[in-house]
Parts: sequence; C-alpha cells; structure tokens
Amino acid sequence: MSGCKFQGKWLTEPQFKDWLKQDSNVNFAFCFRCNKIIDIKSMGKTALTSHGKSQKHVELLNVAKVGGQSNIGAFVSEKPVPS
Ligand SMILES: [Zn+2]
Repeated sequence: MSGCKFQGKWLTEPQFKDWLKQDSNVNFAFCFRCNKIIDIKSMGKTALTSHGKSQKHVELLNVAKVGGQSNIGAFVSEKPVPS
C-alpha cells in the first residue's frame, strides 16, 4: 500500500491551518470550512493546495473572516441600552 499520508506539520502551515483537519484515514484530509474530505493519496500536499484555491473554498473562507470581524465590531461599538 503506497500513497501520500497526512502529515501533522501541515496543520501548522499558514495556508492550511484555518481550515485543515486530519481525517481518521491517513490517506485523506478534511476541510472543516467546506465540510469536505480531500483525497491526498495520489496528490499529497498538492491536493490541499488546489483545494485551498478552489472558488467555493475561498468564498467560504472569506465569509468566515469578514463575518467574524464585522460581528466583533458591532459588539464593541454597540452600547447596551440602559434599563
Ligand atoms: Zn475547503
């Protein structure tokens, strides 16, 4: 049995760390933004890089970032109504 296996160090790389998770099967990785399993058996890290560039993934990642920031801003600037 050959093929690429998941490497724990990928989880710390800046281009992956915001969405990558290890799957229970070492030949797969998991994107928790897209809820998608990525087959890394044949392509290895290249499969992760290309998933990271896919339009759907980029959109989901941007929504998560923008949404998080604007929510924090709203909470900070909004003062509680005095009762
Ligand atoms: Zn993704």
